[in-house]
Amino acid sequence: MTDIRPLAAGNWKMNGSIASLAELAAIANAVKAGEAGRAEALICPPATLIAAAVQAAGGMPVGGQDCHAAASGAHTGDISAEMLKDAGATYVIVGHSERRADHGESDAVVRAKAEAALRAGLTAIVCVGETRAQREVGQTLAVVGAQLAGSLPYGATASTLVVAYEPVWAIGTGLTPTLADVAEVHGFIRRELIDLLPGEGDKVRILYGGSVKPSNAAELMGVENVNGALVGGASLTAKDFLAIAGVY
Ligand code: PEP
Repeated sequence: MTDIRPLAAGNWKMNGSIASLAELAAIANAVKAGEAGRAEALICPPATLIAAAVQAAGGMPVGGQDCHAAASGAHTGDISAEMLKDAGATYVIVGHSERRADHGESDAVVRAKAEAALRAGLTAIVCVGETRAQREVGQTLAVVGAQLAGSLPYGATASTLVVAYEPVWAIGTGLTPTLADVAEVHGFIRRELIDLLPGEGDKVRILYGGSVKPSNAAELMGVENVNGALVGGASLTAKDFLAIAGVY
């Protein structure tokens, strides 16, 4: 199996202020001191903080949480991938379930955003995952497979694409799938990636996201084909985020 460098990615969602950059600087300093082991650490703060976060991060990567598909134009309130790049971001999350649900983002919209990310020179973190109702009727793999087929950007490589499996019912709830369920979905995503991206799919990082905490990180990150975590709530404090990033 290819040796894949894990990624610990923090999604601050609509949280954080200039004062919160002290946490980000603490994370960056600890990462520099080796506390994240061999994992790459990334924080995705709200767009208002990206430029300042890049300064505070001292070389640790910073990402956006969304981007528009167009490079510029009459799209009030939106931010393009090129603007994120200009502010110093190197990653962008697209297709987070909160965007898919709150903003009605379809797979086609997510794919367009992911392709915009690649066009701008960013790495796209494409999120997929089933709802509780979909899991209960046995549709998990069908839903995740359709999201992958519909959302992945054309021409992606292992260095320009990360996939995050985030069961919607596990996000912010304290609930997590069993390790066997995580293994099943991540194995399925790996096989799909190998099919969809020949020569690259075996190296693309597949993150698990949904209520990752210091107490469950080691067991979740130990599952085959889990190449890191997308962390929401627990990424807001340096202590918790570093405890997760440090499991590698
Ligand atoms: C997320 O926002 O992507 C997420 C996984 O959140 P949490 O870790 O809080 O469940």
